[in-house]
Amino acid sequence: MPERDVNKIDIRNLTQEMLTEQLVALGEKKFRAKQVWDWINKGVQSFDAMKNLPKGLAELLKAHYYLDNATIIEQLESEDGTIKSLHKLFDNNVIESVFMTYKHGYSACISTQVGCRMKCVFCASTLNGMVRNLTAGEMLGQLFEMQNMTGKRIDHVVLMGSGEPLDNYDEVILFLKMACSEKGLNLSGRNITLSTCGIAPQIYKLADEKLQITLAISLHNPFDEERTQIMPINNKHSISALMAAVDYYIMSTNRRVTFEYALIEGENDSDKHAEALGTKLKGKLVHVNLIPINAVKEKQMRPSQNSRINRFKMILMDKYNVNTTVRRELGSDINAACGQLRNQHIKTNVFLE
Ligand code: SAH
Repeated sequence: MPERDVNKIDIRNLTQEMLTEQLVALGEKKFRAKQVWDWINKGVQSFDAMKNLPKGLAELLKAHYYLDNATIIEQLESEDGTIKSLHKLFDNNVIESVFMTYKHGYSACISTQVGCRMKCVFCASTLNGMVRNLTAGEMLGQLFEMQNMTGKRIDHVVLMGSGEPLDNYDEVILFLKMACSEKGLNLSGRNITLSTCGIAPQIYKLADEKLQITLAISLHNPFDEERTQIMPINNKHSISALMAAVDYYIMSTNRRVTFEYALIEGENDSDKHAEALGTKLKGKLVHVNLIPINAVKEKQMRPSQNSRINRFKMILMDKYNVNTTVRRELGSDINAACGQLRNQHIKTNVFLE
């Protein structure tokens, strides 16, 4: 790891208020802090690129702060315009992001941790365990890099890259607040989705933050014994504990919650599963997103057949009146399953060493 000055911090990790306070304490005028903040939010990659600052201020910034870029080092572009990027962090760790084009604009899927410790059996992000949490600045950095690369303004963000956002609670909340700040990226909370494997106590906390974000729950199975087999978090927080937390979230925020359900052939795609899921969700302010599972090289799992997916959807919609969609597959030709590009990179590099 490159040597770091412990007295310096990443300037992207400061809110505008914190930055102003610190620069004023260092003898600068408030309007200079505003200029610096604006540059950061334009996504500049160095202090020297902050063009209208006096030389002394650029030097002062360099003496007190880092500007840590989430530098893109590798990219895969799909025929449908989806771009998967590998970002290198200051300490040489790598993370993934995905840039997607939709009717309504541009959307980014970002990572919240280097790796993940949740051990969901179908997920590639967890294969090498969790290395460390990302900072709020590193989450913003992924967005800046994608915007710089494409020249497009991202207006939708999903926290569905590697990592469990609620396992990195404080930095994720700081990120959400900064990303939605009017003077920052000015994203609408409604256009941000936080996806969790189901850390129930943190869902209550999140509800109390009163952010207008969308909560997505990775459920994938309506039966406790079976869900525990594929998602170990279920051992700690059962489906009923999770559902109680979701009810609280809906009650406090009045926001519709999304349930993600990755269909794995012969595992969780039977009528019995659809019926049990429908029974649990009936009458609630929820939406189900069915996802044919992405085959991960290291795991023995296949996506369900289309006829099965359609029947599953029909049961939920017609019998239980639960709003259900099948996720449009973007980037399937570039292997967009979580964590796959990073794993490839790690393997290749280990091999090269
Ligand atoms: N830790 C969070 C967010 C990251 S994963 C969570 O669990 O929600 C984002 C979504 O991708 C989750 O719903 C996850 O279950 C799903 N996922 C992981 N691996 C997958 C695969 N191979 N195919 C389809 N979906 C997958």
